[in-house]
Amino acid sequence: MKIKVLKPILEANESIADEVKGILREKGIKLVNIIGSPGSGKTALLEKTLAHLFPAEVGIIEGDISTTYDAERVYSLGAEVVQINTQGACHLDANMIKEALQNLTLDNKKIIFIENVGNLVCPAEFRLGEDLRIIVLSLTEGEHKPLKYPYPLSFSSSQVLIVNKIDLLPHLKVDMEGIIAEAKKINPDLKVFPLSSLTGEGFSGWIEYIKNLFCIP
Ligand code: MG
Ligand code: ZN
Repeated sequence: MKIKVLKPILEANESIADEVKGILREKGIKLVNIIGSPGSGKTALLEKTLAHLFPAEVGIIEGDISTTYDAERVYSLGAEVVQINTQGACHLDANMIKEALQNLTLDNKKIIFIENVGNLVCPAEFRLGEDLRIIVLSLTEGEHKPLKYPYPLSFSSSQVLIVNKIDLLPHLKVDMEGIIAEAKKINPDLKVFPLSSLTGEGFSGWIEYIKNLFCIP
């Protein structure tokens, strides 16, 4: 008799993430994983970012526990969208992304954004084969998110921190520079972009960064 030993979930996820990376590399497509709390403004960031790219070259994978509200928002701007409803699961894993890719037209895409399930904890544990991981933090979330979430790695495993909703700064008792300093304490290499997805303030730096990084004209 042979006893079957299953790979631990995270280990299996790593190899599927590598598969996803391989599929996209062959097509010359870059993959961006957006992580952030519910209400941090992940969808709004995507909407405003789409306005600066060719939506036809952009694919979006929307991760939500339920509904297609966010998917409809970005679909209406001309991007091809696949919705993943996790039915209660609080993060996306690489297998879900692999399946989503089978439902996207890859030949005309340059970049695919994943909006992860709103959650600062476990999405960080699951690599999805992304080339870039972004954490979105809204100024309304208070000052100490970075130090409250050093594990599991939401801040330290990301390359970019978007500090969103800076248009609200005059109305909040919050020290933006303090938030950024705290995040950099955990991850000194973080590229930080304070911006407002509502007014567009601060957007040019972010757009320039992502276009340069992925050689998008
Ligand atoms: Mg959203
Ligand atoms: Zn989870």
